[in-house]
Amino acid sequence: MTAPLLKVEGLKVSFGHVEAVKGIDFQLHEGQITTLVGANGAGKSTTLLALSGLVKKTAGRVTFDGQDITGLAPHKIVSGGVVQVAEGRATLTTLTVRENLELGAYTRRDGAAARAADMERIFTLFPVLKDRAEGLAGNLSGGEQQMLAIGRAMMAKPRVLLLDEPSMGLAPIIVQDIFRTLREINKLGLTIFLVEQNVRQALKIADRAYVIETGEIVLEGSGRELLGNPRVQDAYLGN
Ligand code: ATP
Repeated sequence: MTAPLLKVEGLKVSFGHVEAVKGIDFQLHEGQITTLVGANGAGKSTTLLALSGLVKKTAGRVTFDGQDITGLAPHKIVSGGVVQVAEGRATLTTLTVRENLELGAYTRRDGAAARAADMERIFTLFPVLKDRAEGLAGNLSGGEQQMLAIGRAMMAKPRVLLLDEPSMGLAPIIVQDIFRTLREINKLGLTIFLVEQNVRQALKIADRAYVIETGEIVLEGSGRELLGNPRVQDAYLGN
């Protein structure tokens, strides 16, 4: 197998005396969907925030495309191509859909033509955003806001897209839509790291998966392997 695009080694994060992430290792391979699944409070969001540089790592090393990015500031991590999708509800509701997408490109140094071309690509992926481009983001449904958040992150020209529970608070049919879209985006070549409590849906679309429990990775395998794993079925799939 080729070298991983992003590699995390011995990552620890503590909040005061609470060690939320206890020295975990995982890898993202280019062009794959990798998921980190686990229960509420297991340390998923903390792991993602540490990758984005938004919480301090107590220990460990993050390598991206062969470069050590462990201590980089969040905006440098974004402009390097590792981009976290904001929570759906965090779209800027008093701005239009188009303005939200334009904001996503704020770290880019390439020209207006390249940004406009990317916006068109995003409108092709999410026709609903094109229809509502001049409307306020605040008038979108929850699912549409999640699409907008993904589109906005894509405007930053990511090589790796990080998502924290995009299914949260959405009806099952909308969740299916979002996950189908993630797979489409992935097929276009984007590497995806998906953190989810919706274990079944996440494992279904993942090439590679890790299970985190109380800050430690306890299982890893292909999405299909973990879907068939009795321990995963007992603990997370209600089988
Ligand atoms: P959730 O699905 O609820 O977001 P999670 O798996 O993402 O769960 P984290 O949010 O990463 O879990 O939390 C892991 C642990 O760290 C929990 O025990 C949580 O209470 C603790 N924690 C997270 N953020 C902080 C913080 N800012 N200060 C103190 N403790 C925190």
